[in-house]
Amino acid sequence: MTPLIEAQDLVRIYQIRHGLFGRPTPVRAVDGVSLSVMPGETIGIVGESGSGKSTLGRMLLGIDDAQEGSVRFQARPMPARNTAEWRALRSKMQLVFQDPLAALDRRLTIARQIAEPLDIHKLIPRQHQPDRVAELMRAVGLRADQADRYPHELSGGQRQRVVIARALASRPKLIVCDEPVSALDVSIQAQVVNMMRDLQEKNGIAMVFISHDLKVVRNIADRVAVMYLGRIVEEAPSDAIFRTPQHPYTKALVSSVPVPGKRLEGRVILQGEPPNPANRPSGCAFHPRCPLARDICRSVVPELVDIGEGRTAACHVVAGETTPVAA
Ligand code: SF4
Repeated sequence: MTPLIEAQDLVRIYQIRHGLFGRPTPVRAVDGVSLSVMPGETIGIVGESGSGKSTLGRMLLGIDDAQEGSVRFQARPMPARNTAEWRALRSKMQLVFQDPLAALDRRLTIARQIAEPLDIHKLIPRQHQPDRVAELMRAVGLRADQADRYPHELSGGQRQRVVIARALASRPKLIVCDEPVSALDVSIQAQVVNMMRDLQEKNGIAMVFISHDLKVVRNIADRVAVMYLGRIVEEAPSDAIFRTPQHPYTKALVSSVPVPGKRLEGRVILQGEPPNPANRPSGCAFHPRCPLARDICRSVVPELVDIGEGRTAACHVVAGETTPVAA
């Protein structure tokens, strides 16, 4: 089957200036990432803040340009941003942000905002829009009497439902969700995640679900990619990654996920803070914090290689030190 979206060797470099007169330093926010998403599949992207996962999400949608590498959607190269072709394609790809209040216009009613993509992409004549809006509101669990409300009159969970309804309005093939529930109360998170999973399955939508919260990702993702300092360090089916994580960084992340009814045992505590992306450690960027680091790790970058059973990992130890070396 052809992937719905396929990214190849994506690189995004930002110039960060330290202080008013500091020299700009290049930071490789995304550094050679390849990823594909099949139709109807949900891939979780996890990692600490600064790992490049949000930048990667925006690059997949063409909102952030890649300085190197390419993105193909339905086997065709992504058109240049802000062209008519790109705008037409954007109706098939939607983004759900972390903060629903920031994503919504405080001056417009809920119904008007859900109908917006129908207008922008000229999908349905205005006279037929109320029916489609009502259908979308029902699908995300909003009541009909909330149609004329404004964002500030709704709870955080309801606002995120509005954002999701708006994302669904254009019948997208792909939704990139960037920390979609992290601003919500824990009690609401599960409801919204379950609703997203149901809608995704029912409508056959592929989803890229970006989150620092592995509990949430575990509930929704078919496959998980773990990012560290701009690179994918492990990718595997969701079950496998939570049952038998291979990369030492993944092991540490997974060990911190509580399992209901069980004490948190065998937790791996990482030493130190994530390194400064502007000053990336040599060799394996994870080596200053890795309990398994050895000499080769300080000088040779481990490549992401196939480790069997549909899994890849970038670690000299996991790959048995047979990893091809990169400069
Ligand atoms: Fe740890 Fe070395 Fe593997 Fe990096 S390559 S994760 S430092 S063992």
